[in-house]
Amino acid sequence: MYSRLVRRFMTAAVLLPLGCSTPAETTDEAPTNTSEQTTGGTRGDAQTGSTSGVAGTTHSETSGRDSHGADGSTGMTETPEDGLYTDAIDTIIVEVDYESGAQPETGNRVGFGAVWDVFETNAEALFSENPKTLVVDREPGDQQDIGALDAESFTASDLRALADEHRDAVPTEGTRTYYVLWVDGTYADDSGPRPSVLGVSVGDNVIGMFKPTLRNGGGLFVDLLEQAVLVHEFGHASGLVNAGVPLQSDHQDEENGRHCTNEDCVMYWALDGVESALDQVLASVVAPDTVLWGELCLDDVRAAAQ
Ligand SMILES: [Zn+2]
Ligand SMILES: [Zn+2]
Repeated sequence: MYSRLVRRFMTAAVLLPLGCSTPAETTDEAPTNTSEQTTGGTRGDAQTGSTSGVAGTTHSETSGRDSHGADGSTGMTETPEDGLYTDAIDTIIVEVDYESGAQPETGNRVGFGAVWDVFETNAEALFSENPKTLVVDREPGDQQDIGALDAESFTASDLRALADEHRDAVPTEGTRTYYVLWVDGTYADDSGPRPSVLGVSVGDNVIGMFKPTLRNGGGLFVDLLEQAVLVHEFGHASGLVNAGVPLQSDHQDEENGRHCTNEDCVMYWALDGVESALDQVLASVVAPDTVLWGELCLDDVRAAAQ
């Protein structure tokens, strides 16, 4: 939906107090890993060790903590380090659609503020070196109802197919687009439904959000949970933790794929899984302008911005 293009076409030039609420990460002893990796923008598979980087392919990012449901993120087909963090890209469009009955939470939370400020704050923080114009479908009127879907669970390829069908915003020179779809069902992988997965990043900047799981996991805080999970999946899609953005320090929790070792960082593995995410959200999302990225993840994107 493009109404935001008109309504919110203002440069997000605010430099946020980075890491103001995220305690310093502690893994600073290891050497920098800047070796060639994921030039095709494809996530490796933690179980098979696949490192194939062919654009257009995806690999399940399997987790060492599957029992916690701490994953569901799959590969990407873009190379997010290629211009995303530099001034080559000046506009980021985040298109939001939903299946009937699975509408994202919006509006204001009493005593907190506008819940979508959480996402916007963190998107701005990610690009603070080269601020972008952010166009985010954050109001109900911006978000498109794509109707009811027959499926009760959705694989990565299902989500990409839905994106192909419903995506309106397309990348142009200087513009990068993301497509976020809230579905009224659960994630599924090759082994079947994964009813603990809250959200996934499935390549091509497509993110799936699983409303029944988010509702179950979030309860009264489903709005905050959705925002934090969206930030996390946006981080995956944007190449964080060695998924396209090279590491500047050893903070990849390799046992859990492309996740951060800092448990106070929004890229910690727990954000994917329904059993573990809410505790972290309640501890970290204290205000609409809380920066949820840890300093080591921000160090990576600052380097990518040079
Ligand atoms: Zn994740
Ligand atoms: Zn981190």
